[in-house]
Amino acid sequence: MIRVEGLIKRFQGNAVLSGIDLEIQQGEIIVVIGPSGTGKSTLLRCLNFLERPDAGRIRIGNLDVDAARPRKADILALRRATAFVFQNYALFANKTALENISEGLIVVNRWPKDKAYARGREILERIGLADKADAYPASLSGGQQQRVGIGRAMAAQAEVILFDEPTSSLDPEWVEEVLGLMKQLAEERQTMLVVTHEMAFARDVADRVIFMEGGRIVEQGPPSELFSAPRDPRTRDFLRKVL
Ligand code: ATP
Ligand code: MG
Repeated sequence: MIRVEGLIKRFQGNAVLSGIDLEIQQGEIIVVIGPSGTGKSTLLRCLNFLERPDAGRIRIGNLDVDAARPRKADILALRRATAFVFQNYALFANKTALENISEGLIVVNRWPKDKAYARGREILERIGLADKADAYPASLSGGQQQRVGIGRAMAAQAEVILFDEPTSSLDPEWVEEVLGLMKQLAEERQTMLVVTHEMAFARDVADRVIFMEGGRIVEQGPPSELFSAPRDPRTRDFLRKVL
């Protein structure tokens, strides 16, 4: 289980996260929605320590981290427990698909290369890109690149995969194949925290939808409830625009 308590993040004195409390059960699929500039990316980035929170606690498994005063080992352990899928894929341009997926196992987990590449090939198989092992990102479609990005996150065997708008950079023709892979992971009960504007995905796949505004969680619930009977006027207003 993952538990976030009182997470606060300020940029130049402005609170972007104003005290986020969040519990994620193992195997839970959570979708985060909300207007632009609300702190959705910042929340994910704080969980992975791509940003340093100003206050709060993050607990994952046996880890219990004072987010404002983490020890170096805590940061490394949190990064290991959380894998990130970026909107713009963030692949290494000079590494092949197989190398992109296996790199973390070699560098972070210190696996021997042959073992890491064997795992990488298994993952290429699972993401339907077995024939692209030696392809460089520039020769792959956007959808294929993002599947490699997801494959890299799968390789990390993290407690949770954090997805920050994984389909927003894609041409429309590639969106479904990436959402399909995410659905496959959801069916395997991979714990996921997904920021997305894909409301159909949220409705079909999420166990819980969280609506954020102004650095706070305004409302949350199963998609069937949140979408059909939002309680807060801010949620109603947002959903009216996007549904
Ligand atoms: P979007 O839907 O547009 O992706 P978001 O909900 O992900 O928005 P964030 O990217 O988390 O929003 O940003 C929240 C606020 O924090 C915004 O006002 C943004 O300008 C500000 N912000 C984010 N990162 C930084 C930074 N590195 N330095 C200063 N301000 C930042
Ligand atoms: Mg964002």
